[in-house]
Amino acid sequence: MPSTDPSFIASCRTDTRLLHDARNRTEHGETSDAIFPTSGFVYDSAEQADATFEGTIQHLQYSRYGNPTVDALQDRLALLEGAEACQTTSTGMGAVSCALLAQLKAGDRVVASSALFGSTHWLLDSLLPGYGIETVMLDGTDPKAWEEALSKPTQAVLIETPSNPMLDVLDIRHIADLAHKAGAVFMVDNVFATPVGQKPLELGADVVIYSCTKHIDGQGRVMGGAILGSKKWITETLQPFVRNTGNTLSPFNAWVLSKGLETLRLRVDAMARNAARVADALSELPGITSVRYPGRKDHPQADLARKQMSNGGTLVAFSVANGREGAFACLNAFRLIAISNNLGDARSLATHPATTTHRKLTPEQRAALGITDGSIRFSVGLEDAEDLIEDLRRGAEAALKAGK
Ligand SMILES: *Cc1c(COP(=O)(O)O)cnc(C)c1O
Repeated sequence: MPSTDPSFIASCRTDTRLLHDARNRTEHGETSDAIFPTSGFVYDSAEQADATFEGTIQHLQYSRYGNPTVDALQDRLALLEGAEACQTTSTGMGAVSCALLAQLKAGDRVVASSALFGSTHWLLDSLLPGYGIETVMLDGTDPKAWEEALSKPTQAVLIETPSNPMLDVLDIRHIADLAHKAGAVFMVDNVFATPVGQKPLELGADVVIYSCTKHIDGQGRVMGGAILGSKKWITETLQPFVRNTGNTLSPFNAWVLSKGLETLRLRVDAMARNAARVADALSELPGITSVRYPGRKDHPQADLARKQMSNGGTLVAFSVANGREGAFACLNAFRLIAISNNLGDARSLATHPATTTHRKLTPEQRAALGITDGSIRFSVGLEDAEDLIEDLRRGAEAALKAGK
């Protein structure tokens, strides 16, 4: 008979445990998790409420503090990441902003790579300085720049690797050493690599951040965010901020994300295999002027990518001939690949960073990140790779014609 004994399931390996830890199973014995869409919880007595608030007994209080469906997701994410603790938020930007604002106060200093998700860039560039926090942004691929910036006491370091949108790969271990010498909490936004493609905590990071909206859902349904780290930092530094400012994930979204985790590894592995094939095909197409994929030998940090990632990732950046006109013609010629600034979805999505995700940057800032008017960021989905390659050929031909 299949065992539902929790101690047996706990002795199994991670992927098995993710599927079989039957959290919150009711007397109906349902296969899939029950959802608990409730704002509050009731107490048996005034004494029980008193003891709950005193902290001497474990009892749920209010869904802004904890909810069975959300807690189940947090435990699963922590298990998958190999982290002591996890705190979810309503979106990925909720996770980035809470992690930074919980850690930093006026007079503090944060150092970050400049190749960042657009809203994260805004937080560092526009919001934090107004709160009296010094922000330093640098070329994350330049080891000298890190050494110089982190020669001063610093309270937080934030990077993305591979970075958005040009897929630079940053040396997590090297930056971790420097961050720790400067006294900083080192945070890695691991969205592009996903929890199955890269393990920042094993490479020296203190905090890992996700937009669960991307691969963890991966099917375009809900938004969510997650922050993982030590039990001490999550419970003492982060949780008071998240709970009291109200950046709460809904039980329904948590349930959808838990279902997403059941197939995450399968989807990411298949998307990465497709991405590797598509990147090679793109490199041979007339009309395509450059291809960036961390899994290709010609990527500027190919050796580092091989060392710190378990695959080349699910995103490919490429440039087409004839600049913006070429890029627009390419996107408009696709019959399969959708134009969308989302990523990590089962369906392939392409975007033109210069006019969408990175339009608020100055042309100089875009140039420094390697974003040209012809650059396209391509999130590779689960379609048959041959159909994707045929669509890319249509796009590349249209880009070439745009110059005539
Ligand atoms: C999407 C994304 C975010 C923000 O996540 P939302 O769920 O959209 O708020 C942060 N970082 C990276 C790298 C992302 O791709």
